[in-house]
Amino acid sequence: MEAIKHYGEDVFSEKAIRKYLKKDVADKLIATMKDFQPLDPSIAEDVAAGMKNWAVDMGATHFTHWFQPLTGGTAEKHDSFLQPTGIASAVMDFSGSNLIGGETDASSFPSGGLRSTFEARGYTAWDPTSPAFIKRHENGATLCIPTVFCAYTGAALDAKTPLLRSVQAITRATDRLMGKFGRKRAHTSITLGAEQEYFLIDREYYLRRPDLLQTGRTVFGAAPAKHQQLDDHYFGSIRPRVLKFMTEVEHRLWRLGIPAKTRHNEVAPAQFELAPMFEELNLAVDHNMLIMEVLRQTAENLGLVCLLHEKPFDGVNGSGKHCNWSLAYGGKNLLSPGDNPRDNAIFLTFLSAIIRAVDLHSDLLRTSTAGAGNDHRLGANEAPPAIVSIFLGDELTEIMNSIDSGKRSRSRSRAKMRLGVDMLPPLPKDNTDRNRTSPFAFTGNKFEFRAPGSSQNCAQSMMVLNTIVAESIDAICDKLDAMKGDFNENLQALLQRLIRKHKRVLFSGDGYSRNWPAEAEKLGLPNLRTTLEAIAPLKNKANRELFAKYGVLSESEMESRHEIAAEDYERRIRIEGTIALEMARGMIRPVVADEFSRLATAIGQATKDGLKVGIAGLKALSLKLGAGLDDLHVKCERLEKALTRSGSGPILAAMGDLRKTVDKLEHLVDDSRWPMPKYREMLFIY
Ligand code: ADP
Ligand code: MG
Repeated sequence: MEAIKHYGEDVFSEKAIRKYLKKDVADKLIATMKDFQPLDPSIAEDVAAGMKNWAVDMGATHFTHWFQPLTGGTAEKHDSFLQPTGIASAVMDFSGSNLIGGETDASSFPSGGLRSTFEARGYTAWDPTSPAFIKRHENGATLCIPTVFCAYTGAALDAKTPLLRSVQAITRATDRLMGKFGRKRAHTSITLGAEQEYFLIDREYYLRRPDLLQTGRTVFGAAPAKHQQLDDHYFGSIRPRVLKFMTEVEHRLWRLGIPAKTRHNEVAPAQFELAPMFEELNLAVDHNMLIMEVLRQTAENLGLVCLLHEKPFDGVNGSGKHCNWSLAYGGKNLLSPGDNPRDNAIFLTFLSAIIRAVDLHSDLLRTSTAGAGNDHRLGANEAPPAIVSIFLGDELTEIMNSIDSGKRSRSRSRAKMRLGVDMLPPLPKDNTDRNRTSPFAFTGNKFEFRAPGSSQNCAQSMMVLNTIVAESIDAICDKLDAMKGDFNENLQALLQRLIRKHKRVLFSGDGYSRNWPAEAEKLGLPNLRTTLEAIAPLKNKANRELFAKYGVLSESEMESRHEIAAEDYERRIRIEGTIALEMARGMIRPVVADEFSRLATAIGQATKDGLKVGIAGLKALSLKLGAGLDDLHVKCERLEKALTRSGSGPILAAMGDLRKTVDKLEHLVDDSRWPMPKYREMLFIY
C-alpha cells in the first residue's frame, strides 16, 4: 500500500506543477505537455523557478539535461544549483535558460560525420512533453530534464528528435484521414507498451566472467544438462530473492510515475519480464530507458546483475523487447474494431494502411532492430525471423480476404464486407494472439512488434513505424482525393486494391518453420539476416527520400546513422573477439596445460612404478586433453589473425570455432579448477 501511495512523487507532474507554479503559468505548461503545443518562451523563467523549488524540496542539489545519444543509452552531466553570493554564502539558482537549453561538448558522442571537428559542441533542448523527474542516489538527488540532443546545425544526434518528428508526421496524416471520415479535429495519441525481458545472475559470478563484464554476453560456456527443456521456468513461481528485486524495482518505478504492471519468469532459466501499462509514445520510450536503468541499479544493490544483452547465454532463449504500438484519436483506439459501420470502416482503413506500410518497408523495420546482440536472436528459433511479416489472426484474415475477393466467405453466411454499411463480426480478442512466432502481430487492439532487442531503444523502431504508416495513410488520402463519387464505394475499391497488392506480407503460419524463408523469398519479402545486411536500407535512395519528405531524418542524418551502426557493430565484434582470445589464452590454456602436464607426470610415474591399472584411463584422458590443447592453440592463432584484419566476418567465424573447443574442454578439466563460473552455476544459483 505504502509504495502505491508514493506513485509519481518524483515527477514534476500536474499536481506538482499546480502547487509550485502560478495558475496562468501552470495552465500554459500543462497545455504544452498534454497537447504538444509550442512552449511560450515568456514563461520559462517562472517554470524554471517553480521546478527548482520543487526539486530542492525533493532533496535535489543538482540538475541535468537527460538525453539519448546514439550510443543506445542515456546521458547526463550534472550541474549543481549552487550559486555563491559571497565568501561563505550561496543560493540555489536555476534559470529559464538552464531549463530550456544546454550546451555540451559532444565530441565523444557518436555523430557519424554530422559534427565537423571544429564544431564539437552539442546542444540539448528541453522536451516539455516528457515531465522532469528526480533521480535519487545514496547521498542526494538530481533533477533530470528530458531533452533532445543535436548538433550546431540542428542535425539530430539522438534517438528522441526523430521520434518526435515522426509523431508529428503520423499525427498530421491521421488528422487528414479522420477529416475524410468527417471527424472533428482531436488529439492523436501514438501509444507504446514495451515489454522488457532481462536476465538476473549473481554478481559474484558476473565479476569472474571477463566476457560478461566487457561485452554483456558469454563467449564461452558449455550447455548445462538441464536448461529450458522442461519449460518449467516460464510463469513458474518466483523465487524470494528475485521477488524482492522485482518489488524494489517496482517501488522505484512507481515513484517515477512509471506504471510497471506485470512481472513474471520467462522461458530461459534466470530470465524474467517486466511490462508497464502503455503510455503516450515519447513518454513510454523515456520510461523504458529508465526501466532499464532502474533494473540495472536495483540488481547491483542486491548483489545481483541484470543482463539486458539480447543473448547473454548461448543455447537458451535470448531477450527481446516487444513493442506494443497503437494509435488513438480523441482517446478512442483506432485499432479497436468499433461497434458501428463507420468506426469499422475507419478501423479497416488504418489496418490497410499498416499492411501497406509494412509490406513496402519491412526492410526499414528490420533496420530498426539491427545490432550485434540481436543478430543472435532473430531467426534463431526463439525469436521471430528476420523476415518481417504480419499476423492478423483467423477472423481478421477472413475479413480482409472477403474485402479482397468480394466473395462470400466460406464459414460465414454473409456477403462480402461493405465498408461504411456492414458491421464487423465480433473479433474474439484472445484468439488473435495465438501465433507467438510472428514478428508483427495484431493482438486485439494494437500491433506487437517482437523483433526489437532487449537492450535497444524502442525509439528506433517506433520512429520507423510512425513514418511508414504516415506515408501509407497519406497515400490512401491522395487516392481518395483523386476519386469522384461515393466515398464508401471509393474506399471499398481502394482497400480492395491495397489488400490485393500487399497481402503477400500477411503470414499466419509458423514463423520458426524451416520452409518459411524459402517461401518468403518467393514472395519477394526481404530476409536481412545480419546487422550489416540489415542496415543497408539506410543507404537506399527511396528510403532516404521517404524520411526526408516527412522531415523525420534528413539524408545526412540517415547517412550518419548508417555509419554509426556499422561502426558500432564492427567495434563490438572486435571487442568480443579480443576478450575471447584473452580468456582462452590467459585463463583456459594455463589450466588445461597444467592438467595435461600433471597427467603426463602421473603416467610417467605410474609406468615407472609398474602399476597395472589406471594407466589406460590416464592415457585416454591425456590424449583428449592433449588434442584439446593443440586445438586450442590452432584456434587461438586463427582468431588472432582474424583480429589483425579488417571485417567482422572472420572474427565471428574464428570466435565460434574457438568456442567449440573451449566448451569441450570445460567437460574434460577438473571442475574445481575451471577458471570461470559455468552455465549450470550462473543460470541456476542466484
Ligand atoms: P503479452 O505478454 O501477452 O504480450 P503483456 O501484458 O506482457 O502481454 O503486455 C502487453 C503490453 O501491451 C502492455 O504493456 C500493455 O500496456 C500494452 N498495450 C495494451 N493496449 C495497448 C495499446 N492500445 N497501445 C499500446 N500498447 C498497449
Ligand atoms: Mg508479456
